Amino acid sequence: SLRIKASVEQSLGNSRVLMLLGQLEKLNGEAVLSDAEVSRHITSKILHLIQTQEKTRKEITAKGSSGMEVILASLEVSGGRRVGVLVSKGGTAILLQLLITTSKEWPPSEELMLQLHTILAKVGPKDRKFGIKARINGALNITVSLLKQNLQNHKLLLPCLQVLRVYSANSVNAVSLGKNGVVELLFKIIGPYSKKNTSILKVTLDTLAALLKSKANARRAVDRTYVPTLLAVYQDWHRNDTRHRHVHIRKAILGCIRNITNIKLGRKAFLEADGMRILYSTSTECLSVRTLDPLINTSSLIMRKCFPKNRLPVPTIRSVFHYQLPHIPAEGPVAQLYRQPPDVDDVVDESDDNDDTEADTENDTENEEDEKNHKTQNDDIETDISKLRPKENLTRPLEDLKMYECFFPELSENFQVKVLTSCQTPAVLPKSLAPIVVPTAHAPSPLSLAQGELTDLPLDLDSICISKDGPGGAGGAGEGLAQELERVALEEDTLNGQSQSPVVGSLQGELEHDDDCSSHSSGELGVLEVPDTAALLPLHDPELYIDMVKGTKSVPQYTEVAYPDYFGHVAPTFREHILERVYGVQRAKIFQDIERMIHPNDILDKVVYDLDLKRLIDDGESLKFNSQFESGNLRKAVQVRKFEYDLILNSDINSNHYHQWFYFEVSGMRVGSSYRFNIINCEKVNSQFNYGMQVLMYSVQEAISGHPRWVRTGTEICYYKNHFSRSSIAAGGQKGKSYYTMTFTVTFQYRDDVCYFAYHYPYTYSTLKMHLQKLEALRTPQIYLRQDVLCETLGGNSCPLLTITAMPQSSSNDQICQFKNRPYVFLTARVHPGETNASWVMKGTLEFLMSPSPMAQSLRESYVFKIVPMLNPDGVINGNHRCSLSGEDLNRQWQRPSPDLHPTIFHTKGLLQYLSSIQRVPLVYCDYHGHSRKKNVFMYGCSIKETLWQTNVNAAACDLQEDLSYRTLPKILSQLAPAFSMASCSFVVEKSKESTARVVVWREIGVQKSYTMESTLCGCDQGKYKGLQIGTRELEEMGAQFCIALLRLKRLSSPLEFRNSSHFLDVENDLIESRCKVTSSTTYVLDEDEPSFMEEVDYSAESNDEPEPDPDPQETPADEDGLSDSELALRRS
Ligand SMILES: [Zn+2]
Repeated sequence: SLRIKASVEQSLGNSRVLMLLGQLEKLNGEAVLSDAEVSRHITSKILHLIQTQEKTRKEITAKGSSGMEVILASLEVSGGRRVGVLVSKGGTAILLQLLITTSKEWPPSEELMLQLHTILAKVGPKDRKFGIKARINGALNITVSLLKQNLQNHKLLLPCLQVLRVYSANSVNAVSLGKNGVVELLFKIIGPYSKKNTSILKVTLDTLAALLKSKANARRAVDRTYVPTLLAVYQDWHRNDTRHRHVHIRKAILGCIRNITNIKLGRKAFLEADGMRILYSTSTECLSVRTLDPLINTSSLIMRKCFPKNRLPVPTIRSVFHYQLPHIPAEGPVAQLYRQPPDVDDVVDESDDNDDTEADTENDTENEEDEKNHKTQNDDIETDISKLRPKENLTRPLEDLKMYECFFPELSENFQVKVLTSCQTPAVLPKSLAPIVVPTAHAPSPLSLAQGELTDLPLDLDSICISKDGPGGAGGAGEGLAQELERVALEEDTLNGQSQSPVVGSLQGELEHDDDCSSHSSGELGVLEVPDTAALLPLHDPELYIDMVKGTKSVPQYTEVAYPDYFGHVAPTFREHILERVYGVQRAKIFQDIERMIHPNDILDKVVYDLDLKRLIDDGESLKFNSQFESGNLRKAVQVRKFEYDLILNSDINSNHYHQWFYFEVSGMRVGSSYRFNIINCEKVNSQFNYGMQVLMYSVQEAISGHPRWVRTGTEICYYKNHFSRSSIAAGGQKGKSYYTMTFTVTFQYRDDVCYFAYHYPYTYSTLKMHLQKLEALRTPQIYLRQDVLCETLGGNSCPLLTITAMPQSSSNDQICQFKNRPYVFLTARVHPGETNASWVMKGTLEFLMSPSPMAQSLRESYVFKIVPMLNPDGVINGNHRCSLSGEDLNRQWQRPSPDLHPTIFHTKGLLQYLSSIQRVPLVYCDYHGHSRKKNVFMYGCSIKETLWQTNVNAAACDLQEDLSYRTLPKILSQLAPAFSMASCSFVVEKSKESTARVVVWREIGVQKSYTMESTLCGCDQGKYKGLQIGTRELEEMGAQFCIALLRLKRLSSPLEFRNSSHFLDVENDLIESRCKVTSSTTYVLDEDEPSFMEEVDYSAESNDEPEPDPDPQETPADEDGLSDSELALRRS
């Protein structure tokens, strides 16, 4: 320090800049934090002088001057903070100019070049525009030629490489550097394992990785056969770095491979170089050392990317079942589906293996400007105020709406005595002619248990023949439940007579190989005693359920009944916690998948269930699958290994996608073995299965031993992108997409069990009909309950409509008048068949409305409830996830529903339009849904103001008057219902939702309190149920709480009450808070608010935009220049 000071004084005399440098140097020596402000001041003065005075610049950079050293030392003292000052004062440009000037001198001063590059290496990463500035100033070539001349000069090499690394982060620079041979140059520096010069190697690899992000450079590297070279270098380091001192080098090598394999040629080269095996075996050897996780994760990322894309093993992605529509609208998705010639392969795209379709990158790299403003607004928010204002005109003429008058007799009844008993029962439905079969079990020995005598020993299900013959058969009155249901055998001639039916055919198959059972067909029958679920489940009755099934029309003409729907479900009393994610689960699963390729001989690939072939395969060695019952939707099961099965879900009818809901049966399991199930054609980019949600399992053995219930089951659950390619037809035109795997592992407890798996608690259409009949029985003289058939669905099923209110207390005029003037509450549910939770919430609502409690009575006296409990019966029956038989999402049809294609929506809207036409607009409308990506229960509502706040049209929102009462009901719910979360509610109207029930009922019908109520499929992360998965009890409770909230809403509308409770509701304060949230920098996102978890391997990214999977924990500041890789990455992104 003294030496520098002396030399500065000597060479520069007493110039101004010298004085400043001297001061700065003194401060550097002291390095006291409180002096930071002073040194900042001095630095900026020096910069100013350099910038404005040619003389000063010369003074500083002159030979023998130590000006640069002082600046350098100054930058080193307080880490990156002074660098920031330098950048903010325009220091980058000055330094770059100094570099140019110096390079023009001959011979250029090596010392000065070294110093300048050392400073630039520090300044560069702090300056977002550094890459552009360097290019514009012509600095790129100076560094490159300096590098070329000094490959052996390690002292100079390091800072040059460090600067080059920063240059390379800019994509335009990367292309230009590649053209100048920098990729080849860097490869000269990379050598075999050596403990020397690891800093240089690390920077070289990082720079190379940055350059290889350019597709042109990646192609160049493939052409020069660098892929096998990099793999060999990686193996070399893997072998020699036995004490794991250089994980950062090994990871940097993988970083280069990762970027090369972003192009198809790179992946090909990787496979040809045996990359899969190399990375697989090196990773396997790393598994035991936790600190090597970054290597394993990056390796697995590369292997997944390079894993050859497989064809989904189905003939077509269209649904196995087809339903002939009355007409096919030219613009609809179904027309698109059937416009394709029947023989077109829609499973994979036409092979384009030979030509590398990746566009040349010279043109696609001009994206450096997009870094400037990454605040992307959610462009789905409706900004057109005219689309947010009420729509006045009714789309249907008044005389047309007259047809709905008959659904509102409560408005005209005068309650003479006879009327009081005239409530209709539901329309009698035509009975199916096919036999109804409770499937699967067969029987070596008759078994009989007295009713109620439940045994703890698991029953041998193989010893039981359960079946049910056609309508009209069996069932003497007054007998026990078991006798009524179970004594009827499936006659062989019945089977033969029905051999056309695929389902019966499959049963025959089972009979053939099951000697035990066929021996009983002669008349010796097994009797299965089932628990009296009626005692536990007031609304359930197996016999009635079978009756209901007979009237249910499915497209595949199902004749079987799934046990869980037959026995019913009694919610368990134990708590089911949200599953904690075990570290490394996804990685382990992916490695097992990769082993399919590494050890192909271990793979069975045996099809055990195939709906396309209409047959079930069973040789006694594999699990048996079935889903040919209401709401079932398994398409195919392939045994991959002894205890692993790939499962494929069927598409919604008349559609080629929407796979999420599942419901299927498994039997033939071994006790104690862990079975892995993979649903391999999932479509969503992420799932609550990554955040603690488990699948549901129903064990028939458990059921008959007294616990008929769905239980959250499964370990090692995760959801990730797999190697099955998704055609552009399936992916909405996008090429190169993959499906996702949802995997779970189950160990079965009972021998000869029959188990069912489902995405969520099933709730079939037949279950609804059974519940509605049972609700009739709850009617008291005080309750007005009417059940109508609103319309028939496309599939010929009836869509029930319920009217519930209180009978007038007397037939006095006052009472009749009060009765007729009760406001309407209009509720709907289950437009999306896969959202079964919505039906359980609705069940809770209906039970509450029919209950004898004073609160329920008070509620009935307050409102008339119009309820369509299942808007999409056909979708539910046929195991769809999203659509109706028209292949469309019915909750996108509310603007212009077609009476032929969307009858339930058309007529439900008709009811609302009728109410509007007679000035009886409902007070509240709510559509019950389920949400697959969020926790808790919450509501979406509609507010012009809150929508406009999301946009920049603030001015328009200011002079807009809007009643805040749309927030009241959700607010009440958040105080009443433990599962409900106000924080998750939103009142923003999105463009993509403009044809949903909620938005149309708000805009067109004029219901201010129009909501979608979303219930989680997973569980809660707040309130009383925090940390628990949601069950039917909580869902039903939610439905009841909704009713209580309506009662409170009514009380609040009394002015006196409102005054008392407005402070506790504090709706206005909430609103202000939510507005504050809006004005914060984060953009408004409706979906995905899960925090990331430990195992941060990508779930969604396609191969070209994968994020850094992890910050490198091995990075040591000594090795680098104070900035870690992740910091660098942050700067660059
Ligand atoms: Zn929904």
